[in-house]
Parts: sequence; C-alpha cells; structure tokens
Amino acid sequence: MKEYAKKFYQSTAWKKCRKSYFNLKHGLCERCQGTGKIVHHKLYITPQNINDPDITLNFNNLELLCQDCHNKEHHDKYSPVVDGLMFDADGSLVQRC
Ligand SMILES: [Zn+2]
Ligand SMILES: [Zn+2]
Repeated sequence: MKEYAKKFYQSTAWKKCRKSYFNLKHGLCERCQGTGKIVHHKLYITPQNINDPDITLNFNNLELLCQDCHNKEHHDKYSPVVDGLMFDADGSLVQRC
C-alpha cells in the first residue's frame, strides 16, 4: 500500500467517518441493496487530496458499496492516472487494480 493512503486509512478520523456513514446507510450497498462492505470515495483519493477532509471525510463524496459493486466501479472507471485502490471493510488495502 502507498504510504499516504495507509496513514489515512488507519486514522481515527477515517475510522469514525466510515463507521457513521456505514450506519447511516444501514449497512446496505447503495447500488444493489446488498451487503455493504466498502465505503468508496467517489472522487478517488490521491496524494494531492489526501489531507483535504472536504474530499476524504465528506459524506457527499462517499458511497457504501458491496464487494461486487466496488469491483465494478473500479474496473469500469479504471484509469492509470487514478491508480485504483481497493479496501476491505476495515479500510485495509486488499488489492490494487
Ligand atoms: Zn452492490
Ligand atoms: Zn473504491
């Protein structure tokens, strides 16, 4: 995992934010109503915006997704510039795609 992302995903601020967003959505995937697993950033996190809470901790930039929908999201919109990162329910990096 990239250092900048690691620090962010392990931060208390993110863990709290992630948890309250998850609860707000009742743990359901926003796209298919399946089991929500991953709180996805609509605007992907980059070294440029990682310290900007308006992006990283803003509910308007978050989406609760199940594993399938999250995979699709990153495959459909994959761009080498964006460097798709995948995280598990705890916000740990599980795979880079
Ligand atoms: Zn889904
Ligand atoms: Zn994502």
